[in-house]
Amino acid sequence: MIGIKFVIVDICQLDTLMQHCSVCASINSVERKRVGSVITYHTRCFKHDHQFSWSTTPKEKNTPIFNILLAAAIFCAGIGYTTIRKMTDAIGLAFFSHQTFYSHINNFTAPILRHSWIRMREEIFKDLQSKDDLVVSGDARFDSPGHSAKYALYSIMSNFNNKIIDFVLWQKGFLPGEMESKSCAYVFNRLVEKLGVGKVRIFCTDRNPSVAKMMRENFKDVEHAFDVWHLAKGLRKKLIAVAKKHKQIEGWIEAIVNHIWHVSSTCGGDSDTLLEKWNSMLYHIRGKHQWKEGKETKTCDHRTYEDESEAKIDWITDESAFAALKKVTHNTRFLNQLKHCKHFVHTGNLESFHNVILVYASKRVHFFYENMLLKTILAVLDHNHNTGRASVGTKTTFSKLRKTYQLETKYEEKCNEWRANLLEEIEKYAKSPGLLGTEEEEILILSPPHDVPRNINSVPLPSREELELRRNIRMRAAEHQIE
Ligand SMILES: [Zn+2]
Ligand SMILES: [Zn+2]
Repeated sequence: MIGIKFVIVDICQLDTLMQHCSVCASINSVERKRVGSVITYHTRCFKHDHQFSWSTTPKEKNTPIFNILLAAAIFCAGIGYTTIRKMTDAIGLAFFSHQTFYSHINNFTAPILRHSWIRMREEIFKDLQSKDDLVVSGDARFDSPGHSAKYALYSIMSNFNNKIIDFVLWQKGFLPGEMESKSCAYVFNRLVEKLGVGKVRIFCTDRNPSVAKMMRENFKDVEHAFDVWHLAKGLRKKLIAVAKKHKQIEGWIEAIVNHIWHVSSTCGGDSDTLLEKWNSMLYHIRGKHQWKEGKETKTCDHRTYEDESEAKIDWITDESAFAALKKVTHNTRFLNQLKHCKHFVHTGNLESFHNVILVYASKRVHFFYENMLLKTILAVLDHNHNTGRASVGTKTTFSKLRKTYQLETKYEEKCNEWRANLLEEIEKYAKSPGLLGTEEEEILILSPPHDVPRNINSVPLPSREELELRRNIRMRAAEHQIE
């Protein structure tokens, strides 16, 4: 039973225990009080007037700390109040109100969460300061698709250990304009300020044009790399579209997409080699594995085919299919983007971090800025405490992209110790608050210095009277229709 600190007890069992005086065993008069999940008994025996006060969990200066810890544990596990309330109501478990829950989170959990993240970030920065030629990746995550998103979370990850180095949660209306490049500029700038100019050599993102423009204008000394995965995904989509018209392309899609990974990983960081290898594909798909370019003879990278296996391959013979394929894979725009992939860096691990956020903040629920910020911190702590887990085999998953089953690496189970440590800190803080920096300072460190807009809708909120008036007009119109 190592690690068990609390158990659930039937209230009738407790009442039975309290019936008799613990000194003289005579009958007690019993008074029972409940504060949230904590029950306190006051007993007085009829025979000798022995008086006792006893609580289900200890109190600190009359405050039942257990309620604070329970609220923290629920929040830090990513469980919503409404969900847990359904459970406690169903089984009749003593629990606290919605207001109490949030006041415990705001007063005790929030300061420790903010503080833990700031401390962790400082340690990561310190570690990175001792290194040179850093490669980092960045990506935005929106709380809802398209332009209706309220929040953009821009996170930057260190490619050397996959830890989140820094993030900013950007709310629509913080600054005019689109959120992705604004939030990226804000957090990347903060990183350069912290680490010093020249520390970051490569910054890898997806192909977002406004981010690319921002990087060209503001950070000329940093090499802006594109994520291989995003480029491969985009090309696959285009190839699927042309394959609808030119059937011969269909069987080549996987091979061409894999070729992106191949050229990016084998070009040794040289864009000429990268483009040369990419060009070889145009010959290979037509069954030519050796060809002349000027005076030079070029060959494919692969080993020679057995005649038998070569005969089975459906080489592209249809000229119009070849022309359509070349247009997609060799247009100037695509080739320029491909050159940005010469360092073979990708943001794939940021995607797995984005999945951790979903554990704490479902996209179906709306959260206020401060709450969303805390949930993001939780996801970062969870992610950073679980990087570098060892692989323990493979598991079968379904790839929506490839529409097929595949084997994926399976990692050892996630560690939950960080959460228990967090709870310990919250307990210490609840017993003697005031040991941390001020709340204002910490919020300022974490958020961009802007007022949080109250209303993100483009139309201002009308007065109550005006809304009543509009409602009456609508109801009258509806009555007319019925008549
Ligand atoms: Zn007694
Ligand atoms: Zn070939």
